[in-house]
Amino acid sequence: SDRAAEVRALIRDVPGYPHDPIVFRDITPLLADGEALRDVVEAFARLCEGSSDGATGHPVDVVAGMEARGFLLGAPLATRLGVGFVPLRKAGKLPPPVERVSYDLEYGSAAIELRTGTLPAGARVLLVDDVLATGGTAAAAAELVERCGGQVVAAAFLLELGGLGGRERLTGRVVETLLRVD
Ligand code: 5GP
Repeated sequence: SDRAAEVRALIRDVPGYPHDPIVFRDITPLLADGEALRDVVEAFARLCEGSSDGATGHPVDVVAGMEARGFLLGAPLATRLGVGFVPLRKAGKLPPPVERVSYDLEYGSAAIELRTGTLPAGARVLLVDDVLATGGTAAAAAELVERCGGQVVAAAFLLELGGLGGRERLTGRVVETLLRVD
């Protein structure tokens, strides 16, 4: 839609950042635009609630956001839906006890943690992040939520970077993306 194109135009492409040949997608101009931020949060909310044109929703009990930009989109979404927000943090940021899932990066590895006991047993969880690239972060996040007793109903992203295998990495899961670049 025209609106999607306008919102897309607020994501700045930064070639060579953090290094060649990466084109970094910078969402800070979008975050700084009140109408765009509201529209993005509303679009995520419609994914959960379904819409009058018949799209089925994904009812959720909790929104879980991936550090750090998943916090910026996930927390306002949780408020909008009237549900709680759970941060999935980079290793070492949360006080114990935590559950941890490690995953491979292009160089080295990373780990994310969730505070033990924060998720109600059987909670229906929506994962939220800004960008889906290789899917490694989201796959680890889903595993972490499940290990903590949650049920991942969908993973939602503002922007999908096509061609990096993210969807394949999340095969068998519901993946929702508001915008996509190839
Ligand atoms: P993945 O694990 O899917 O390869 O990478 C996704 C994670 O890295 C997300 O947490 C996302 O915030 C971050 N990320 C990767 N590439 C970009 C990018 O171009 N722009 C932004 N804003 N985040 C990115």
